[in-house]
Amino acid sequence: MQHHLDHFDPASATSDAAARLSESAEHHAAKHKCEFNKLQKRLRREVGNAIIDYRMIDEGDRVMVCLSGGKDSYTMLEMLLSLQRNAPVNFSLVAVNMDQKQPGFPEHVLPAYLKERGVEYHILERDTYSVVKEKTPEGKTTCALCSRLRRGSLYGFAEEIGATKIALGHHREDILETLFLNMFFGGTLKSMPPKLLSDDGKNIVIRPLAYCKEADIAEYAQAMAFPIIPCNLCGSQPNLQRQVVKDMLADWDKHHPGRLESMFKAVTNVAPSQLADRDLFDFAGLEAKQAALMEGRIQALNVG
Ligand code: SF4
Repeated sequence: MQHHLDHFDPASATSDAAARLSESAEHHAAKHKCEFNKLQKRLRREVGNAIIDYRMIDEGDRVMVCLSGGKDSYTMLEMLLSLQRNAPVNFSLVAVNMDQKQPGFPEHVLPAYLKERGVEYHILERDTYSVVKEKTPEGKTTCALCSRLRRGSLYGFAEEIGATKIALGHHREDILETLFLNMFFGGTLKSMPPKLLSDDGKNIVIRPLAYCKEADIAEYAQAMAFPIIPCNLCGSQPNLQRQVVKDMLADWDKHHPGRLESMFKAVTNVAPSQLADRDLFDFAGLEAKQAALMEGRIQALNVG
């Protein structure tokens, strides 16, 4: 032992350890960067595919990007900015945030961010907070009315600024949650489509994040250190039904990998003849269809 200690140089040992540490830190940083690049590429690819699949954006479109200050809308804006630089079509972006006058809303955060990113923007000031507080009975969740009022104001504003498309930051999990909520509580098989014409026919709404996983968006938002504004400034109770469905999906995703992917694929791959909606499929006309098929076969046999 003594023999070894004779050769022990504390200074060189310390510098060796420091070199190893810095090497491992560099390795760690490089790995991190590589993972981030992969994540960013995946999100860009998914947004690009959704835009192409549903023809969300056309040449000359003016896309109003609705920014709430949450992780999803910041990610959507970044993705659209990046696609705008490389897309084969020319389109413009205008970011819009609604200041709903909740107490404590940090009104400087989004303007500062958007100025720095060089994005054209508007802040739409509408005191929906007072309306929501006044109209919602004590103990009831305020989100449904709040979202409806926000949507109405944003749709109207889109017309004012000449926007041809309204982009909302809903992602894959939002779509699946809505599907289950509608089945559980609404008795209807419907969700949030990637592209939608508003009821009055005046606006086309697009959801460029429709193919993106929420977990990817959360990771991206954290890595980008977006200045997130929480959506519960109103002091609202979280939407309990949605939370239950959210937890159910998260649990499935954990214990049954691939299930959410399959469920989302199902939303894009509907077989009306295998469901039971008489408006979507002519069940009463099956006999006529059968007779026409038989007739066709007989004629084919006669020709043959
Ligand atoms: S949490 Fe508050 S601000 Fe957000 S949607 Fe619900 S009511 Fe509106």
